[in-house]
Amino acid sequence: MIVRNIVGGKPSHDIVTVKRDDTVRTAVEILARHRIGAVIVSDDGAIVDGILSERDIVRALGTVGAACLEAKVKDLMTSSVVGCHYDDTAHAVLGKMTEGRFRHMPVIEDNRMVGVISIGDVVKARLEEIEMENSALTGMIANSW
Ligand code: AMP
Repeated sequence: MIVRNIVGGKPSHDIVTVKRDDTVRTAVEILARHRIGAVIVSDDGAIVDGILSERDIVRALGTVGAACLEAKVKDLMTSSVVGCHYDDTAHAVLGKMTEGRFRHMPVIEDNRMVGVISIGDVVKARLEEIEMENSALTGMIANSW
């Protein structure tokens, strides 16, 4: 399974973004409204400037307190974002997420965002893949007797 299939199989292809100068409060409202755990930061809606995850916000809430909600997104976001491409395999993406200890990844083609995938999407794809391999092998064994 490759990233193109994972993106294509998602019910919604919308890419939810915030801008660098938006407040963290705005980002929290967007995360809640869309029921997502991270939002891509992009001033023009195409180039990835950063990523802001619920973890970044919880960390700031635990250190700075509620005042962090008035901070700018650019103050809490991660700027060095690891992305993936349509042709990457689910297995490779899972490896990158595990190694980097993050659960979200923008899909980037020609320097522009074309989708966002979460670890949940990738695990679902891997499970489907393993189930298909399993039934193919079971079929081969059954037919060889
Ligand atoms: P997550 O597990 O995705 O909620 O994020 C954990 C941490 O990794 C947070 O500090 C995020 O800002 C950061 N992060 C999330 N996704 C990525 C990514 N694709 N590349 C780099 N950092 C990321």
